Amino acid sequence: MNSLDKTIGKLAYHLWDTKEGGRRLKEFRHLKTAQYLSDNELQQLQSERLTALLRHAHKTSPWYRPIMEQSGIDLTATTTPSDLRHLPITTKADIRNNTERFISDDYDIQTLNRAKTGGSTGVSLNLYFDERCQQWRNAAQMYADNLAGWEPGTRVAAVWGNPPVAKTPKQKLRSYLLERTIYLDTMDLNPTSMGAFVEQWKSFKPAVIFGHAHSIYIFAKFLVESGIADLRPKGVVATSMMLLDHERSVIEQAFSTKVTNRYGCEEVGLISVECEKHQGMHINSPHIILESLDANDQPVQPGEPGKLVLTDLNNYAMPLIRYRVEDVGVLSGEPCECGRTLPLLDRLEGRVADFLKKPDGGQVAGVSLVERTLTKVPGVEQMQLIQEQLHEVKIRRVKGKDFSAETDDLLIDEFREVFDESVQLIIEDVDRIPQEASGKYRFSICKV
Ligand SMILES: [Zn+2]
Repeated sequence: MNSLDKTIGKLAYHLWDTKEGGRRLKEFRHLKTAQYLSDNELQQLQSERLTALLRHAHKTSPWYRPIMEQSGIDLTATTTPSDLRHLPITTKADIRNNTERFISDDYDIQTLNRAKTGGSTGVSLNLYFDERCQQWRNAAQMYADNLAGWEPGTRVAAVWGNPPVAKTPKQKLRSYLLERTIYLDTMDLNPTSMGAFVEQWKSFKPAVIFGHAHSIYIFAKFLVESGIADLRPKGVVATSMMLLDHERSVIEQAFSTKVTNRYGCEEVGLISVECEKHQGMHINSPHIILESLDANDQPVQPGEPGKLVLTDLNNYAMPLIRYRVEDVGVLSGEPCECGRTLPLLDRLEGRVADFLKKPDGGQVAGVSLVERTLTKVPGVEQMQLIQEQLHEVKIRRVKGKDFSAETDDLLIDEFREVFDESVQLIIEDVDRIPQEASGKYRFSICKV
């Protein structure tokens, strides 16, 4: 980054942050320190924040007050993350059916920031948070971006659906000073739009590229196939949850740099992010408590997949305690070589709704099946699995350049290792995998 960008970036962020209360940069600096706290110090920080949150929720949350009174949890003492086991799980349905009861009595819903989750799992939720929570989430975002080489002033390329367009002079100034971003619209990815973006890239010279993994992959593949090898960002940030291994390698080949994967959601913001070692994602433990639980809501061992449950230590306007996000992930028991002490989320296995069902009651991680098939069967470019009935799986596939008469037989053989003959396998020929309204891609969808 040149020194003018650096100066503009520092100044613009300072002015923006000061004007809005000055919490972002302070918390950004705190997170950079907190990532090296000793285990004891980190536990102490989490316990202090958890104790304050639980007391606040008990005092002011119409939803959690009766739950806490029934649970027998001792709120006069300091609570630690392991005490959370006394409290029940909060589900998406709880929130959808009781949204207003989740709002703390200390806040007026009209004055809060609102976020809406996509309805792709069948449940769309409204979430509320105050300005401080919003700014701390911004800080966590900055912390995660920083791990991929971003700092205030860095020029950014974003591969995004429905990019914002600056219209008023104020928006244009903000876009020039703060966002410093060029956009490739993922709702219209084709050789012409991608070629134009390459030209824009060459004059703008972004240092970091952001986007949903699969969209960046499509752009990366275009670069590789077109022999364009001179786009050299410092960092690549994949923001959607599932980064498939073969997509990762194409992206890394195209940009000659590592992908920084991250995981977050509208409900709580940043959950975890990779560091430069790429050995898993460091959990945003100063802001959230992440648990991984089995079918009986008991903790699973590190290395075993479990349903992820989140407690947001920042949200006082709408406390969320032990919220089941409907994703499946694997916690790591190992420290990272980088020296940061924030624990690692080893990997995500998909959303609960991405697991296909077998007639014998078994479950199949659809994303893993897609990944394995793409690696083993030549001639398939992309895939999406849809299960609408127990005895039928639709395989939408995009033909690759090695496609031959054998491809589909091999594809079926691969699926037969998982699904017996009672499950009908239907191959659908498609030109591309459709996006959801949010611009995200899902490779496996179970509606059973
Ligand atoms: Zn690390």
